[in-house]
Amino acid sequence: MVTPTASVADNTAVGWRFDNSYSRLPDVLFAPAEPARVRAPRVSILNHRLADELGLDLGTTSPEAAAALFAGQDLPVGSRPIAQAYAGHQFGGFTMLGDGRAILLGEHTTPSGRRVDIQLKGAGPTRFSRRGDGLAALGPMLREYVISEAMSALGIPTTRSLAVVTSGEPVYRASALRGAILTRVAASHIRVGTFEYLAARQDESNLRVLADYAIDRHFPELAAAPRKYLELLRAVADRQASLIARWQLVGFIHGVMNTDNMAISGETIDYGPCAFMNAYDPKTVFSSIDHAGRYAYGNQPTIAQWNLARFAETLLPLLDAEQEKAIAIASEILGEFPALFERYWLTGMRKKLGLQTIEAGDVELIRSLLDWMQKSRADFTNTFRDLSAEGPPAGDRYRAPDFQAWYSRWQLRLGRDGRPSTSAYAVMRAVNPAIIPRNHRVEEALSAAEDHDDLSVLGRLLAALAAPYEAGADTALYRDPPPDDCTYRTFCGT
Ligand code: AMP
Ligand code: MG
Repeated sequence: MVTPTASVADNTAVGWRFDNSYSRLPDVLFAPAEPARVRAPRVSILNHRLADELGLDLGTTSPEAAAALFAGQDLPVGSRPIAQAYAGHQFGGFTMLGDGRAILLGEHTTPSGRRVDIQLKGAGPTRFSRRGDGLAALGPMLREYVISEAMSALGIPTTRSLAVVTSGEPVYRASALRGAILTRVAASHIRVGTFEYLAARQDESNLRVLADYAIDRHFPELAAAPRKYLELLRAVADRQASLIARWQLVGFIHGVMNTDNMAISGETIDYGPCAFMNAYDPKTVFSSIDHAGRYAYGNQPTIAQWNLARFAETLLPLLDAEQEKAIAIASEILGEFPALFERYWLTGMRKKLGLQTIEAGDVELIRSLLDWMQKSRADFTNTFRDLSAEGPPAGDRYRAPDFQAWYSRWQLRLGRDGRPSTSAYAVMRAVNPAIIPRNHRVEEALSAAEDHDDLSVLGRLLAALAAPYEAGADTALYRDPPPDDCTYRTFCGT
């Protein structure tokens, strides 16, 4: 039994303001859960900057108290831990799932009134664990920490990482690994799969309750709309179009865009086999289990639309009493997705090329740069960053006649934009990151932490990733692409 009494004083000093609105929803949506007891919790990393943003003060919390807190041994005052029920289409196939290795402690309200989920990932088995152990290993939890924090610094909507603690106990995968627990902070954990779970049970009345809850939590401005469920679908599609465009613009590959990993809030969620692309190629896949390339970089917009179609299907009974009418309404919104995505993408691409006006030929100008990058295996991040430096980019690759021809066209286009080129380049440097979490640098940092208990490599990487647009001489280490990433593989963080 978890007893919060041991460090109520510490907890109070941390400044939690807990509520549990999700656990007041119909109880088909969750199961009570309790973090497992662990032998020797120890803090691996604490995110003090995020704690500040959340109005939490970890400054006076002892390392032991912080470890107990973020291992779920001492619960925040007022928390009511649960595991959420959900379903999902995984690689196209439908399955009933649920939090098998995550426990939602509840919701914290920040000083500015924002409500965020506080979830422990890897805190032990729940009713939904099936054959899994409910545990997580240190490497994958640190990996989620690094990449989610990098995404946040890039300004991309994402869940955040507040802490990683080791449990002092082994987890058994291909070998024995060190167990760890990640504290994940999210706008919510409502997924497309949460709606699919109720739809699969043909539970229309609770679907309505969940939809109203999602509106209240993420789209309160829709609560009074005459056709609010249609507007919910439209709003979720809009956030996904914007989010996936942001991913494409930085070369982020999620790796496992199953419907249970698509959040209604529009945040990036579930950092398993994700990775950033180096050389530009739409077919890039890193995940070891994605043999068919379903979740390749270039497929992400189409998959998002496919996932939204699964979401729309769950909402049909709420859209219209007549199914045919409901399908027509949903199809219309889904049909708008490609153009919606394209608009977000094009707006972002224009910024990446320093363009502030709109010309019909822009799409072709952008496509021909991407074609050249693909043909010459140019690094996606570094190419845009090289273009952001004032003056022609240096390097052998850029001397190629086809690049030179493109560069002249771009320069003419910039000239027609009618603003001083210095300001165009300044805009470019503010949107084209110099530093992304390169796979080999992430691996290096994780190895030092896992194999040598050395968190200093990770600390330096995190510091560089926190300022992705600053390309000082000291950041050169983080800007080089790996010598060869064709063989790099990522794994689902189980
Ligand atoms: P993911 O691939 O992380 O999105 O997880 C897919 C599903 O598998 C979710 O329902 C997880 O809760 C569950 N799962 C993943 N790893 C474990 C584990 N070690 N123990 C229990 N359930 C797990
Ligand atoms: Mg998941």
